[in-house]
Amino acid sequence: MNSFAIGVDLGGTNLRIAAVDSSGKLLDKISTDAEVTRGRDYVLDEMCKNVRALAAKFESRGRMVGIGIGVPGIIDRQTGLVHESPNLPGWHDYPARAEIERRLHTRVILENDANAAALGEKWLGIASQFDDMCMLTLGTGVGGGLVLQGKIWHGMTGMAGELGHTTVDPNGVKCGCGNHGCLEQYASATAVKRMAAEAIARGEAPEMARAMNRDPEFSAKGIYQMASQCDEAALNIFRSVGQALGIALANMINVLNLPIYVIGGGMANAWDAFAPAMLDQIQKRSFVYAATSHGDVVEIARTNASNAQLRQSTIIARELLGGDAGLLGAARLPMIAAPVLSGSERKHASAGIGER
Ligand SMILES: [Zn+2]
Repeated sequence: MNSFAIGVDLGGTNLRIAAVDSSGKLLDKISTDAEVTRGRDYVLDEMCKNVRALAAKFESRGRMVGIGIGVPGIIDRQTGLVHESPNLPGWHDYPARAEIERRLHTRVILENDANAAALGEKWLGIASQFDDMCMLTLGTGVGGGLVLQGKIWHGMTGMAGELGHTTVDPNGVKCGCGNHGCLEQYASATAVKRMAAEAIARGEAPEMARAMNRDPEFSAKGIYQMASQCDEAALNIFRSVGQALGIALANMINVLNLPIYVIGGGMANAWDAFAPAMLDQIQKRSFVYAATSHGDVVEIARTNASNAQLRQSTIIARELLGGDAGLLGAARLPMIAAPVLSGSERKHASAGIGER
């Protein structure tokens, strides 16, 4: 091992930290039960304490190149500010990068968590054989990340890849972003629970009503288990999930013509319940997909991208790294970042002269 980096996944519920070497080997992982709802300073203390512990553990075996942090929110990459993060109370416009660099005396790179997950799957996961890929992360919300020519596509102001807020129903459910009918309102775990409550209220889901009465914590996972047992109301909910995903993906495929689109996040575990409706919609709505889908090429994608059949195929696949995609992608950030700029160089960069 020549060098390693620390990846941090600052999730909506807790904090995970890993040391990863330059070949992608996960050296060690700390899953803290530090709840992010306990506030910014508490989270920063926990993060820095655990980063120090991991760095000390491996410092004798290689050079530490820096820390990458996946943050569930909008990041200003020039200033290192966390602009907006609905799940992180107290982080609004907070100069997180400067504060963490001050505490740890090492390079810190902040990245949107869905972008970090996409980079993880590109580096070590199902998309490792491709230069271009797109990932949708289905969790409490729906995140998106685009990797083009091996690099995260940030767009003009770092806000690119908000695939969860593309419209799949013009008259649909109101979304927190202000729009109606966003993908997130149909393909997140939150959406599955809402659709279950609606089905129960309409009197269409007696079994689900009983299950929910028995267990107030009844979640998207429980609804998926009911779908697996062929409960019609639960199956319908996952058909809606698949339909919404299919509409969004068909649009993306028509626009981007990428070789691979990866579905990840906790909801990806319900793949067999939503994938048939999703693929059906994509087939119907995207002529680009219809012209470039060649049966089951996912297995080939794992092993051999030079395969001729694969080179001309659009692949829709589940993530390979499970919950670790964001953590591994975050660790990758300092490994591939441009060299560190001094303070004055950073000023030039923010004036558009250089690039960080
Ligand atoms: Zn939205």
